[in-house]
Amino acid sequence: MARKFVRAVFPGSFDPITNGHLDVIERSIKLFDELIIAVGKSPIKNQLFTPSERVEMIEEITQKRQMPGVLVESFDGLTVKYAAKKKADVILRGLRSLTDVHYEFQLAMTNRAVAGIETVFVMTSERYGFTSSTLIREIASLGGDLSNLIPENVYNRLKKRLKK
Ligand code: ADP
Repeated sequence: MARKFVRAVFPGSFDPITNGHLDVIERSIKLFDELIIAVGKSPIKNQLFTPSERVEMIEEITQKRQMPGVLVESFDGLTVKYAAKKKADVILRGLRSLTDVHYEFQLAMTNRAVAGIETVFVMTSERYGFTSSTLIREIASLGGDLSNLIPENVYNRLKKRLKK
């Protein structure tokens, strides 16, 4: 039987993208034929980078690391509507710990109930189990060294942004 082409959408705020997100992306490339990293435009609390800045940073990384089949876009509104528009087969979400499971489980069940779309979870490396964009923003604002937790281009942009 011919193998089905599988397209996944990875939605998130990615403000900014971290090595944890990238770990999930790199693991997922092996599972899907196409992966769309979808940066949500909906206003988030304490937004640091605009959606287009976030897309730009992610594109710099996907181009540098040569990730075929990986696309980056921003989107507005409901994730399931965007996923349907893109003809995505699944939604991808990353898991760091059991704490994530509670929220992600609810989200996945709701998305399946309203749109019939399945969610695939990929666990991040233990190394990034404690990394969150929120903490990155906080540590950066206090001048901490984040070079192990975020890619270099993001680190440089953060430093520039926080100097302003
Ligand atoms: P959202 O606001 O939609 O949760 P995020 O950008 O915070 O957006 O996260 C997007 C996805 O990546 C979520 O599934 C989240 O659980 C996952 N994620 C966040 N940080 C990490 C990490 N360090 N390792 C693996 N997955 C992560």
